[in-house]
Amino acid sequence: MCLSFFIVKPPVNADLHCHSTVSDGLLSPAEVVARAHANQVELLALTDHDETGGLAEARAAAAAVGLPFVNGAELSVSWGDQSVHIVGLGLDTENAELAAGLAQVRSGRDGRARRMAEALDRIGIHGVYEGALRYVGNPALVGRAHIARYLVEIRVARDVSNVFEHYLVRGKPGFVEHEWARLEDAVRWIHAAGGVAVIAHPGRTRLSKAELTRLFDTFKDLGGEAIEVVSGSQAGESALEFARVARRYGFLASRGSDFHGPQESMVDLGRAEILAPDLTPVWSRLV
Ligand code: AMP
Ligand code: MN
Ligand code: MN
Ligand code: MN
Repeated sequence: MCLSFFIVKPPVNADLHCHSTVSDGLLSPAEVVARAHANQVELLALTDHDETGGLAEARAAAAAVGLPFVNGAELSVSWGDQSVHIVGLGLDTENAELAAGLAQVRSGRDGRARRMAEALDRIGIHGVYEGALRYVGNPALVGRAHIARYLVEIRVARDVSNVFEHYLVRGKPGFVEHEWARLEDAVRWIHAAGGVAVIAHPGRTRLSKAELTRLFDTFKDLGGEAIEVVSGSQAGESALEFARVARRYGFLASRGSDFHGPQESMVDLGRAEILAPDLTPVWSRLV
């Protein structure tokens, strides 16, 4: 009988990437926490897009049930002609540099939504801006998911992912170019706020292998610390590839569901695959 079997600790059920109605999730911050707790999550970060406004509510709800909680946000970044997402974890929400940076990124969203609506108007789909706003929980944070929900409502497509595929990604009629934060700014804001920077779902970007390598190299040079080896919004097989990346670059490894809501997300809170045991989890730096 192998004694080590009894002393190996089970992995922490950490979920360090999810969304609430403060960005494009379907549950309030407190509802997200309640669901995470019910799903046996042991360490939770709420990471709304470009926004920290839900963290106080989530933190209070987490404290009430004894669930360790980490402040987070998912920052929208332009990388070449693509966008990538950088999660910041362990953020001081009072930090002025981060707050100003996030406000700047948010400020472009309304105009972008109007331009997307105009583009859709030109192909005969009308009222999209007003329709999308009915799905928005935070007027500063209108995004493609809200537009997609409205397009499902008016039966332009059968579900949200179908709307994205046919209307909202590059090359499709509702897509518009947009300038997000620069990578170096996003990483600097996160660090200014005492946080750890994490490349979100690297397997979901539409980057070529070479562009992805350049992203990892640049992120490392900027002092970026971690990548999501396991994410509910990238294919399960890619965990092997990104575990190798984490080892090669010395990145900490993160794990998150990218949960948006029970009806929309493939992976529920706390239900992503576990990390390979040799990786150093990003939460070793957070708790
Ligand atoms: P935005 O920040 O407005 O560009 O919207 C990005 C969000 O759209 C992501 O965080 C997801 O919530 C959602 N999204 C992006 N691509 C897809 C997709 N293929 N299917 C469903 N939702 C998607
Ligand atoms: Mn989202
Ligand atoms: Mn994302
Ligand atoms: Mn996300």
